[in-house]
Amino acid sequence: MLETSEISVQKVEKSKIKEVDFNNIPFGRVYSDHMFIADYKDGEWTDLRIQPYENLSLAPASSVIHYGQSIFEGLKAYKTKSGETAIFRPKANAARLNKSAERMCIPEVPEDLFMHALKELLKLDSAWIPDQPGNSLYIRPFVFAMDDYIGIKPSDTYRFMIITCPVSSYYTEPVKVKIETKYTRAAEGGTGFAKAAGNYAGALYPARQAQKLGYHQLLWTDAKEHKYFEESGTMNIMFVINDTLITPEAGSTILRGITRDSVLTLARDWGMKVEERRITVEEVINAAKDGTLQEAFGAGTAATIAHIKLIGYEDTDYTLPAIEERKFSNKVLKAMDAIKSGEAEDKFGWLHMI
Ligand SMILES: *Cc1c(COP(=O)(O)O)cnc(C)c1O
Repeated sequence: MLETSEISVQKVEKSKIKEVDFNNIPFGRVYSDHMFIADYKDGEWTDLRIQPYENLSLAPASSVIHYGQSIFEGLKAYKTKSGETAIFRPKANAARLNKSAERMCIPEVPEDLFMHALKELLKLDSAWIPDQPGNSLYIRPFVFAMDDYIGIKPSDTYRFMIITCPVSSYYTEPVKVKIETKYTRAAEGGTGFAKAAGNYAGALYPARQAQKLGYHQLLWTDAKEHKYFEESGTMNIMFVINDTLITPEAGSTILRGITRDSVLTLARDWGMKVEERRITVEEVINAAKDGTLQEAFGAGTAATIAHIKLIGYEDTDYTLPAIEERKFSNKVLKAMDAIKSGEAEDKFGWLHMI
């Protein structure tokens, strides 16, 4: 285990926290006072430090800028009802970061370094974890290539950082999604399962085309036939058809969401029928037509559950059942919130208290 003393700490002279209106936080624009940094050189993570949040200095030839050798994670910390700090399933994020790292030739970040850095940073910026019900601190760990070298090869040097920002309990409006049948997010053998920076840049253009048509997001389909569902934006996709919860199985093209896993775990615990399998567009559209499609939603850290109210497919829009009628997704959202706030028993050991 790493010792606290291995992280040097330089505190801000004056906290910015008084400038923040915690009842009205714009997402992803307001950062907490401090950030964590570690540098990878000569095969090891060194110079662990916490310092004021500020701009970085990078060589113009830094390979991350040119070739995108960069990965990230996203998780949240909550203030429980009793005022303690709880991080939701951080070890699952540490493990996934390293899966992404392997695929992108980035060195592993040891779990104890990840956890230690997270804990020390949150202890220092604990006042930034909102205590209004539902609000939370979004945590963004990331690793990127640092070599000052314009040739294409895995970098020899890297930086691991963690920044955090308070976010509102923004109740997510139900979304309109369009089934994408032309563009592709990820193909078999590619990097879809990794939280790798370039995956998101490549998805912007197709998403913008859909937004011009009035949809919020895309429902991605497989690269080969555009016949099977994959996921949506930065969320995994789930359907309830005839009281069965169905979600695409997570292969090499789908990001294995921790929210996805939590939702499936709760559903199974409640005795619901759960299927992780390939699911065709045809099956869902037919279910929407004959009224057996009861629910559709995205699952991800940002919103936990984002209800889908409308699905567009080949020039036709299918309107889904009213949100109040959605027994499962409403129940699972409530159950997850209750676990995070400490109101319900943490039966699966998801909360990491600091
Ligand atoms: C992060 C992400 C998700 C959701 O993962 P969570 O761990 O639940 O937040 C789903 N799909 C993509 C593409 C993602 O980047």
